[in-house]
Amino acid sequence: MKDRKKIFEIRHLKKYYSVSQKQWLKAVDDVSFDIYEGETLGIVGESGCGKTTCGKTCLGMIEKSGGEVLFMGQDVHSMKRREHFEFTKKVQMIFQDPYASLDPHQKVYNIIAEGIRIHKMAKGKKEEEKMVSELLEMVGLNAEHASRNVHEFSGGQRQRIGIARALSVNPEFLFCDEPISALDVSIQAQIINLLMKLQKERKLTMLFIAHDLSVVKHISDRVGVMYLGRMVELTMADQLYINPKHPYTQALLSAIPIADPDECKRKERIMLDGDVPSPINLPLGCRFASRCSKCMEICKSIEPNMIEVEQGHFVACHLYK
Ligand code: SF4
Repeated sequence: MKDRKKIFEIRHLKKYYSVSQKQWLKAVDDVSFDIYEGETLGIVGESGCGKTTCGKTCLGMIEKSGGEVLFMGQDVHSMKRREHFEFTKKVQMIFQDPYASLDPHQKVYNIIAEGIRIHKMAKGKKEEEKMVSELLEMVGLNAEHASRNVHEFSGGQRQRIGIARALSVNPEFLFCDEPISALDVSIQAQIINLLMKLQKERKLTMLFIAHDLSVVKHISDRVGVMYLGRMVELTMADQLYINPKHPYTQALLSAIPIADPDECKRKERIMLDGDVPSPINLPLGCRFASRCSKCMEICKSIEPNMIEVEQGHFVACHLYK
């Protein structure tokens, strides 16, 4: 990976929310990672771990509290108007809920054509119509759908419209924020396969947020695991599933259902006991200590930093000093 171009460089990113005069909710707390050209980086973790806030802060949709986000060397949070306009063309987002993110009374055509118009992508009306038709076909819909209203479509079809809208400006980067979690299970695989196909065809770089590890494994080249605002493990997807290092990752993986009954019997489920600390009142030391069966004395007083335990495999845990 190291020889590949970095699209995003995220350094010590923090996003804190003030709860009272003295208290802060640390949604993202000192997170650093890179996203390389052409890769899909998956970020997983339980709900409330900060993964979506992290993604949105990387895109400048949320103000940061500290740290730095560079997009192709440019500071996302201090872009001038013109630079930000260009950035919004290069970086697009697929939202979690296609029912909430698309106006149900809008014509599909207008939704997809909006970005084309804003960024002056077409030379005239004819070219704009052709682009909308091609985008609809690219996402598995057809050109006739352009004249219909969004409310006439199912959830899966609406997500396809959302993908067509995102691709209308020919972006280089897609931020997919739990794009299948609001969809029927039967439709989820279709949308994942569509995103994988488009990523390959259009050489996109993607940040894919999900709480389901099996989905992330399928689509990602590398996976980062977040827990209570911190990244606790980051490595190649295969490596994470074969050789998870962090006790939290091990527990998450042990909970993935396995179809093969023999393998299922062999697999030991790691139950997570103990309370999850409040993100407003985080403990000293490791945030996972209250639920970790391998907790040591040092874990209760010193917060572990991310270290590289093998090439490209980063873990924040005192077991790997
Ligand atoms: Fe468990 Fe300690 Fe590692 Fe935290 S640092 S995950 S408490 S072993």
